[in-house]
Amino acid sequence: DGGMLLARISKELETAGPNCIIIGPHQAEYEQLRKVWNGMVDRRPAAIVRTGTVAHVAKVVQLAAEYGALPAVRCGGHSIPGLSTGDDGIVLDLSAMNRVVFDPVSRIAEVEGGALLRHLDVAGAAAGLVTPAGVISHTGIAGLTLGGGMGWLSRRFGLTIDNLLGVDLITAEGRALHASADIEPELFWGIRGGGGNFGVVTKFRFRMQPLGPVLVGRWKYPRPAFGAVLRGYRDLAAEAPRELTTALTITSTAIAVSAFWSGSSGNAFAAIQPYGSLARPDAIMVGGQTFLELQSRNDAHFAWGRRYYAKGGFLGDIDDRVINCLLDSIATAPTPDSEFYVLQLGGAVSDVEEAATAYSGRAAKFYWVAEPVWDNPMDDSRCIAWGRSAGGRMAAISQAGNYLNEQADTGKEVSYHAYGAEKYNRLSALKARFDPSNLFRLNQNIEPDPS
Ligand code: FAD
Repeated sequence: DGGMLLARISKELETAGPNCIIIGPHQAEYEQLRKVWNGMVDRRPAAIVRTGTVAHVAKVVQLAAEYGALPAVRCGGHSIPGLSTGDDGIVLDLSAMNRVVFDPVSRIAEVEGGALLRHLDVAGAAAGLVTPAGVISHTGIAGLTLGGGMGWLSRRFGLTIDNLLGVDLITAEGRALHASADIEPELFWGIRGGGGNFGVVTKFRFRMQPLGPVLVGRWKYPRPAFGAVLRGYRDLAAEAPRELTTALTITSTAIAVSAFWSGSSGNAFAAIQPYGSLARPDAIMVGGQTFLELQSRNDAHFAWGRRYYAKGGFLGDIDDRVINCLLDSIATAPTPDSEFYVLQLGGAVSDVEEAATAYSGRAAKFYWVAEPVWDNPMDDSRCIAWGRSAGGRMAAISQAGNYLNEQADTGKEVSYHAYGAEKYNRLSALKARFDPSNLFRLNQNIEPDPS
């Protein structure tokens, strides 16, 4: 029962320092602390434990197993299906473990398992160093990394997992382990794309990359130009060097084309400028932003507490079928903020062999996601239905693989389809080794199978 569990946790963590708080349903902070990023998610855990030490993480995992209570591991709380909370379970809130320490000479960062993108970006910026990650600064490093991690610098420096050197984690037994290319290499393979299935990561070791000045352009094109913009974009993007990354945000009224250049300054303007001539733009924004500023540009748009759904996939090309599908679907978008987002991949992401990590989609040239955004609960079914059907139509013409970090739907079919049979079976065997009772199942779950 929840009360007994809460009392036991409080007793076991009695010696906890000021960083550790244990909150139950009757305490004032509960309503605030049980919230996660997606306002659609409304769950009532039996206990929320915010801790700052690895020993406490291990203890909470052991208690969850002992009491049969579902542990929900939370870093940034951005899981779209709300996988960092659960009814009647224990939320292990790692947000107090957000330290980033790095050595500018070896260019290696050590990042605690509750840090957000902004903690890593801000720390590195002072030294002109960066670990490539995502594009919204309040996203959690842990969830993002364990699924793969894509953003403006992926084409140049690879996914976040391609810059991961090792992790410290607490297994389902409460045991501390290190995994890297040399130590527990199979586990290291699995955590690079296999999500939080294998344990609680308390520390990541990342390679950092030097990053000079960047140039960002963003042009907004009106509805009548949509077809021309998408066709012109397709042709330009196919020729882009890896220092250039482009993205589309398509709503019912406008297509915003973004171009991000991180190569040598002399070529910057010439590299991005063609994306401003796809038609006559309504709005133009070129330059004037540092990488750090770019990383929080859309923070407010993707605010905590709004209602979201997402369904995405990979593309090898933006062919005419894709363009027609995007145009048809966006015309029926349920709210003005609902969008298709398309991020260019390829480059360094595709340098890594498909079999080298659990992440499944190395050959993709683009990632797309249909993302309805709304605020009124009365619109839930209408908005989700649009996301499912618009995303479903795109999925039918997409490549194999998927990015599980950006799917609102969960279940075995979703993960099996994303990884494909061979990788799913390899992950299932690994899961059977490290979490045979499937204690960690609040994730895009991999069912343990020892066979
Ligand atoms: P949480 O909800 O805290 O956790 C997500 C999952 O990871 C849960 O299953 C949780 O149990 C598990 N987990 C969390 N911490 C740990 C840990 N320390 N050890 C083990 N398991 C853990 N992805 C990109 O690649 N690029 C982007 O640019 C990008 N932008 C995004 C922007 C927004 C606004 C949102 C909502 C998502 C975005 N994503 C992006 C997707 C993002 O990678 C996933 O939502 C990811 O799961 C978020 O991680 P989190 O730590 O914030 O989430």
